[in-house]
Amino acid sequence: MSVTNRLKAVTGGITQVEADAVVNAANRSLLGGGGVDGAIHRAAGPELLEECRRLGGCETGDAKITKAYRLPARQVIHTVGPVWHGGDKGEADLLASCYRRALELARDHGCKSVAFPAISTGVYGYPKEEAARIAVRTAAAFLEGNALPEKVVFMGFDEETTMAYERELEALQ
Ligand code: ADP
Repeated sequence: MSVTNRLKAVTGGITQVEADAVVNAANRSLLGGGGVDGAIHRAAGPELLEECRRLGGCETGDAKITKAYRLPARQVIHTVGPVWHGGDKGEADLLASCYRRALELARDHGCKSVAFPAISTGVYGYPKEEAARIAVRTAAAFLEGNALPEKVVFMGFDEETTMAYERELEALQ
């Protein structure tokens, strides 16, 4: 299957997604927070926080994997996006690294399907269009060289975000 057929954008909440892995936009403590992180912890239940406590945090641009407990997904991949400081502090490289590291973990754990939220575009302030471009291009490059994951879904929590992904997916072909 071509890489473009392995990527898609969907509008909705990531806690409802039945993928082999869903990605969490976490912070470096991995001890929960607001936004998508809060939603994932609430839906997964307290066992998730218990497992996260044992991980000893995570660096910005890196990722760690846990079980998904009460979520319909099988695993959660926690990644820590960069805080937007205007764009000249390495934000783009760090955000691309989040996608790569999450996809490497998904591949290494045999995940066929992975769903991503728009990492860093909430409280961390990353401009949505630029974040969508990095997400789509980094995932496309990864899938080009890897059979797993077979499919990547970009979850837009609002239509505007989904449309930004769709424009980037169009631009790939
Ligand atoms: P960050 O701190 O990395 O910016 P946030 O959780 O504040 O993370 O926001 C990241 C993105 O996730 C935002 O675009 C926000 O709209 C979106 N988001 C919030 N809740 C959910 C959810 N339940 N499912 C999918 N996306 C969500």
